[in-house]
Amino acid sequence: MNLHEYQGKKILAEHGVNIQRGYVLSNKKDTIKVANQLVKETGTVWFVVKAQIHAGGRGKGGGVKLAKNLDELENIVSDILGMHLITPQTSKDGKLVNQVLITEDVYYPGDSEPEEFYISILLNRESGKNMIMYSTEGGMDIESVAENNPELIFYEDIDPLIGIIPFQARKISFNLGLSGKAFKEMTKFITLLYKSYISSDSSLFEINPVLKTSDDKIMAVDAKVTLDDNSIFRHKEYESWRDLKEENPVEIEARAVGLNYVDLDGNVGCMVNGAGLAMATMDLIKQSGGDPANFLDVGGTADAKRVETAFRLILKDENVKAILVNIFGGIVRCDRVAQGIVDAYNNMGDSINIPIIVRLQGTNAEIAKKIIDNCEFKVYSAIEFQEAADKIQELLN
Ligand code: GDP
Ligand code: MN
Repeated sequence: MNLHEYQGKKILAEHGVNIQRGYVLSNKKDTIKVANQLVKETGTVWFVVKAQIHAGGRGKGGGVKLAKNLDELENIVSDILGMHLITPQTSKDGKLVNQVLITEDVYYPGDSEPEEFYISILLNRESGKNMIMYSTEGGMDIESVAENNPELIFYEDIDPLIGIIPFQARKISFNLGLSGKAFKEMTKFITLLYKSYISSDSSLFEINPVLKTSDDKIMAVDAKVTLDDNSIFRHKEYESWRDLKEENPVEIEARAVGLNYVDLDGNVGCMVNGAGLAMATMDLIKQSGGDPANFLDVGGTADAKRVETAFRLILKDENVKAILVNIFGGIVRCDRVAQGIVDAYNNMGDSINIPIIVRLQGTNAEIAKKIIDNCEFKVYSAIEFQEAADKIQELLN
């Protein structure tokens, strides 16, 4: 589950991590009230308006703007609220901005220049440990640093059983080139950040930039947080934070009926039982020149009702030109599944008119094939994996 910047920052603040402070608004009428409140709490002179959407690169797309007085602030809030923000990470239509975060300005001048660092925490699947990734080259161009100067990005594995050891936090601060007060602040920042990552059961923290202010404070200016969906049951307080406007409506519908559906970009719908089989099926479609339109796992039951629900979900994607059903009949008998598919096709009448290729293997596969072959609809059988993929290609052409 992805969070907005303001939600991510709330988790950080709750764990004592220093953040750039602000208030979120969905209506511009509260702008001045919030601004005055911020001045009172932080003493800020300028303000920053930040679009809250589930995509990065907002600064580059014009979704992060500095306001030097209240008039400017009101104008910027009006401009950004309700805009379709296009960034390097959104589609070409952009994303509708429903909320903005108004923050204190933390790039104020002082004894030294503000400095932007990059820090993220995620799972290192190779080592089976958590990993802190960091760089002195934080800010809006981190993607090009990763591409052109990967040697400027450093990694520190953290053993999940031991947790972060003090010397690791100090080593990172040292490698970031800090000394004195900033060094101490960064060491504390990293330690608390790691604790926050663990206790929120997150799968990603990306803080870019982490800022060293001109008076040597360290703070999170941005926060991209992904919570592990499998842990939400332990965090009832975050459940209501899910922003359904940011999620794919078909995925929401699928979740409500207990189907595991992920929307993809291709033209072949996949209906399978089991996630492993889903992965193999998508690989096979790719290998034979097609492109999977989704990942849909119907799980253990594949009766007519469930198959019909799955077909209806798949067909909401207008790019789908054919459906590949790939089901292994172990406990669920293939002939039952075949009958379910034929019945579903029949029940759906005019709302389905694309070909369906059905590969059923396992118990009663031969009877199942006969049911498919004898039906009057655009439903075709295949026994072998490859045969199914070839058939898809033939029908698409
Ligand atoms: P992103 O572009 O979606 O990653 O959004 P960020 O929250 O990282 O903000 C983008 C950029 O806005 C930062 O890299 C900063 O350069 C700038 N920015 C953010 N906060 C402030 C601030 O308080 N003052 C000033 N002057 N610039 C800021
Ligand atoms: Mn950022």
